[in-house]
Amino acid sequence: MTTLSFGSFFKRIIAGTAFNRYRQVFDRAGYAIMLIDNATNHFIKANRAASELFGYTEEEFRKMTPLDLSTETGEEPTLPGEKTEESLIRPARRKDGKIITIKVQTSILERFRISLISDVTEEYRIRRALELNEERLREAQRIGRFGWWEYRPETNRYIGSEEISRIYNDEPSNLSFTYQDNISYTHPEDRSYLITAIEDALEKKKESYSLTYRIITPNGKVKAIAVNSNVRYDENGRLLYRYGTCQDITETQKIMDDLIAARRQAEESDRLKTTFLANFSHEIRTPLNAMLGFLNILTSMDTTEKEKEEMVKLIEINSQRLLRLINDMIDMSRIESNSMEIKYTNIEINGFVNSMVSSFNHELEASGKKDLRLVPVVDKTKAAVYQYIDELRLSQIFSNLVSNAIKFTDQGEIKYGYRISRTDNRYSIVYFVTDTGQGIRPDRLDDIFLPFVQYWNEDTPKVQGAGLGLAICKRLAELMKGRIWVESLPGKGSSFLFSFNTPVMIE
Ligand code: ADP
Repeated sequence: MTTLSFGSFFKRIIAGTAFNRYRQVFDRAGYAIMLIDNATNHFIKANRAASELFGYTEEEFRKMTPLDLSTETGEEPTLPGEKTEESLIRPARRKDGKIITIKVQTSILERFRISLISDVTEEYRIRRALELNEERLREAQRIGRFGWWEYRPETNRYIGSEEISRIYNDEPSNLSFTYQDNISYTHPEDRSYLITAIEDALEKKKESYSLTYRIITPNGKVKAIAVNSNVRYDENGRLLYRYGTCQDITETQKIMDDLIAARRQAEESDRLKTTFLANFSHEIRTPLNAMLGFLNILTSMDTTEKEKEEMVKLIEINSQRLLRLINDMIDMSRIESNSMEIKYTNIEINGFVNSMVSSFNHELEASGKKDLRLVPVVDKTKAAVYQYIDELRLSQIFSNLVSNAIKFTDQGEIKYGYRISRTDNRYSIVYFVTDTGQGIRPDRLDDIFLPFVQYWNEDTPKVQGAGLGLAICKRLAELMKGRIWVESLPGKGSSFLFSFNTPVMIE
């Protein structure tokens, strides 16, 4: 029955023309029908269904207005008839006090209005419960940062809940993307892992699998996600669909990473403490003992002048060794406490390299290695080469590396200096110290830059040093926006290279 015919049907009832004929239809209707007088706002007619619905007789209805059926629950007191021919859902109170939910559709005639009312209490309760469940589910997904998704090969599309879209696009919407889109969302370093894992799961007909990898959102945010997937196949083993959950675990991952880093740091501190005590007691005691011994000889009566000269030289060498050790310790602790100050100036590199020649030659001489040569390398084709850098710290790096090269090379040559390279109109400088010494085993290359790490050949006695030199070089390079790395072949030699990301000027 359309609303219009519903209106005209009642017009006829009120007109009384066919009342008796229609009264039966009116009474037998499966929904409540009520007529209200517009002038008095009183009910004037109510069918049997209306009486059953509200619990009032037609007599009782006649003394009532629609307001008597409303509740005091604070709901909007919309009365039937306020909105013409539009249905509205509202609570109502039955005679026995029970609150029910009714759907009211009202038509206005000239002097009357007619309401068609049905009881939607149960339907409304179920709908509300569903809505509430949906709301709770949505809220749980938002709080837990996880969503559901489904992928079907025939459409090549992923569909997912609102939260999936928030994870992938930083905003809620109904996400739908292809397998290829999914790969391009994935962090480039994790793409092959994802592709291989999915292919592997499908090939082995796995029913479920879990993956953790990174994605990049269109805003450039990198997120870590944990994906749990279930897979369904048809009887021929062909993929029907995959579905599962996806959770944003960026924060959890960060906490885990921080914890792992903290643990590593604690282990490292522990290692440093132990090695520090072992190394330093030896490193400090050895030169001090030597110096005390030489002083004793020096003061004894029967020491010749030549022997005295020799002793003074040895005392000087040992005090230098002690001083270097103490300086290294002070530098290391300054770097560790972030109080190492870097003073940038434009230094001229050719002059700088040449200025180091005499002191390095002196050191080589003192080592007594006759078959070893030191070769400074500068770019002679350039009149002047400048880099914005801390001169003192740069010379400290060179000095540590050249000392090591002398220590670990018996014959051949040690080249130290720099090379200029040019990319995209930009000059950069790579500094190096290259030797023809014993070299470093590949498995040791990673940790020689750690503090207190030292290696020496099993067949040669321990060389002096506390294992701080390379660690200081690395930290100094990093402090000057640079890095240091090593290339080495055991038995052939080592090249320590370092560069800084600071301005270079060439004349
Ligand atoms: P130290 O101050 O005791 O020399 P470093 O940190 O400078 O400590 O060096 C750590 C370790 O790296 C050394 O014990 C050695 O095994 C290795 N190493 C450093 N430089 C060289 C080199 N030029 N040739 C071979 N091994 C080297």
